[in-house]
Amino acid sequence: MSVTFTADKQLAAQLDAADPLKDFRQRFYIPSQDGKEQIYFCGNSLGLQPKSTRSFIEQELIDWQHLGVEGHLHGKNPWFYYHHFLAESTARIVGANPLEVVVMNSLTVNLNLLMISFYRPTKQRYKIIMEYMAFPSDQYAVENQVKFHGFDPFDAIIELMPREGEAALRTEDILATIEQHKDSIALIMLGGVNYYTGQLFDLSTITAFTKKCSSEIVVGYDLAHAAGNVMLSLHDWGVDFATWCSYKYLNSGPGGTSGVFIHEKHAQDNSLPRLSGWWGNEENTRFKMQKGFFPQPGAAGWQMSNAQILPMAAHRASLEIFDAAGMDNLVQKSKLLTGYLEYLLLSGARKDFKIITPADHAQRGCQLSIVMEHNGKAVFDKLTENGIIADWREPDVIRVAPVPLYNTFEDVWRFADIFHSAL
Ligand SMILES: *Cc1c(COP(=O)(O)O)cnc(C)c1O
Repeated sequence: MSVTFTADKQLAAQLDAADPLKDFRQRFYIPSQDGKEQIYFCGNSLGLQPKSTRSFIEQELIDWQHLGVEGHLHGKNPWFYYHHFLAESTARIVGANPLEVVVMNSLTVNLNLLMISFYRPTKQRYKIIMEYMAFPSDQYAVENQVKFHGFDPFDAIIELMPREGEAALRTEDILATIEQHKDSIALIMLGGVNYYTGQLFDLSTITAFTKKCSSEIVVGYDLAHAAGNVMLSLHDWGVDFATWCSYKYLNSGPGGTSGVFIHEKHAQDNSLPRLSGWWGNEENTRFKMQKGFFPQPGAAGWQMSNAQILPMAAHRASLEIFDAAGMDNLVQKSKLLTGYLEYLLLSGARKDFKIITPADHAQRGCQLSIVMEHNGKAVFDKLTENGIIADWREPDVIRVAPVPLYNTFEDVWRFADIFHSAL
């Protein structure tokens, strides 16, 4: 749908009325202040609670209450097989086949587990390329993986820097860096959408180019800000591995579980080193007490502990909503919603702020990062006083993410209105 934006409030009402996903908002609890629903623009940080989450968790509590240990095999959703129940929906969100995904642990844990398998440096080939200003947890994990193998992080980690005066990275510069270091890079480890700038990297091009430079370079992505936000085709792109959390765009609760993708081409590769435990072993020989670990094929073979049923139940509630809405539809609305926000912000009289998120829809998801020239914190506090939940990053950035599942065009209009008067 293409729309000519205008600044009058009526357009917001029209867009909401015409929105095919408008009823999905009813499936979520919207936080409120003094009895008034807030404008919640922090779905990139902690997605809202689906009203169905409680009953998904309750079902498991009921089975535990009535069946005790028997719930493993005789519960409504037998816990022994629980991770299977999430595979298909998860695969749809990231563009994978079900064998390639598993839900387990939490994000940084998985990032470390995957680097144990896929960062296998040699004397010649040991470098990791990541983006400048990657999420702190990723920086710590990568730094320590490098040290764990006896390398010096200052030598082994190459950070992709934006050009002077720019905030986003140019794809051509990313490719040039890969080309330049193609004989010494072991791993590309990028955040799919950068948490700070909101830039979506061209993962398809980066993956293909890297593989063309050298088949020995492994490509992995942290999709914390991409899963459930933008279209992904991890299988077709030939990405080696990826991981993401479930509590941002995927609305599965604070500290929620994490998803992992491991490309089919590695599904049967038992030579990859991995940390192992009983849940990754073949299901039917797990208790035979034979020596030797026999991993299940695919991502499930990377599991260690038995499934964490309660957070995974919360995740299933959200996955069911994603299946009903469809990623295609969500992304279509998201582009309109974020484009509208961008239009309203830029059409105001004041110009003492800058949106550092790329204007190109192919290079972003829901989030816009606004750099304030002055009084940023005061403006942010004004927004908060007026019932807006957004995100403040020192020293001068306000991040806002209108989420297509539960945000409205009216939310966007009201946000822009309050923002402009706060300026
Ligand atoms: C949110 C986020 C994390 C958080 O990791 P946890 O292990 O879930 O605490 C890590 N990396 C990125 C890129 C993130 O956006």
